[in-house]
Amino acid sequence: MTTPTLSSSSSEVLTKEDSKSKSSPVKSTDELKKICSQVRRDILRMVHAPQSGHPGGSLGCTEFVAALYFKIMKHDPKNFTMNGIGEDIFFLSNGHISPVWYSVLARSGYFPVKELATFRKINSRLQGHPTTHEGLEGIRIASGSLGQGMSVACGTALAKKLNKDSRLVFSLHGDGEIQEGQIWEAAIFASARKIDNLISTIDWNGQQIDGTVDKVMPLGDLKAKWVAFGWDVLQMNGNNMEEVISIIEEAKKHTGKGKPVMILMKTEMGHGVDFMVNNHKWHGVAPNDEQLQKALAQLPETFGDY
Ligand SMILES: [Mg+2]
Repeated sequence: MTTPTLSSSSSEVLTKEDSKSKSSPVKSTDELKKICSQVRRDILRMVHAPQSGHPGGSLGCTEFVAALYFKIMKHDPKNFTMNGIGEDIFFLSNGHISPVWYSVLARSGYFPVKELATFRKINSRLQGHPTTHEGLEGIRIASGSLGQGMSVACGTALAKKLNKDSRLVFSLHGDGEIQEGQIWEAAIFASARKIDNLISTIDWNGQQIDGTVDKVMPLGDLKAKWVAFGWDVLQMNGNNMEEVISIIEEAKKHTGKGKPVMILMKTEMGHGVDFMVNNHKWHGVAPNDEQLQKALAQLPETFGDY
């Protein structure tokens, strides 16, 4: 197991030619912001090509996923293993926002960046919802059948404790997703078993596929609910990179104290593209040619399009 070394020169890691041969997470916040611009371009181009996919939540969670892979987690893109022993592990429970995950995985070195061009195509390893049978490096569970990822994260976190593996487990969930009953079963289980090496995050954008969460099925006092279920609860603005890093670091300090940790992450669906922001219509709709150009004009190409 090797820990990827931090590099002051990130461009070599993130471009299409070099992504498979080099691995080096980035440390400065400025570099992370540049990565986010490129990841957002990837997301838009990925869903535009097949005219299919979920740009809204992907754009909203870009800072969070980029921060995890390029700053927070100890992980090894070059020697991916399913069991992840000795590594921090991330599960994307709201699997439909796969474009942001695929882009970050590729640009952190798990697989070639140019493979992003196969998103949602026949026989691609990058299916609309992540699955395991294509053998895509970085993916450990199928997700997108909503509500299941926290249960998997609990099991993985428990296994790490049993194996005396001190690394952490992270999971991400949609706010619409937590209307699923299985989430709350996992929430009770995590607290009952004192799974204190788990940091779960909810993308609290207030939007889901059919409208605002408040219209479809309101969540009420989310913080009070998670506290009542026995979790330590933090809150952050998920589109502010400085805050994302500081609150996840803070969350890490809450681990090992007998309670699972929840971060309620306020984001804007479609963040980074003015005409997509906070509009549930962009949950699962691809931009047309004109919209793509308008969106890309707002996002500098920082590490080279695939
Ligand atoms: Mg949502």
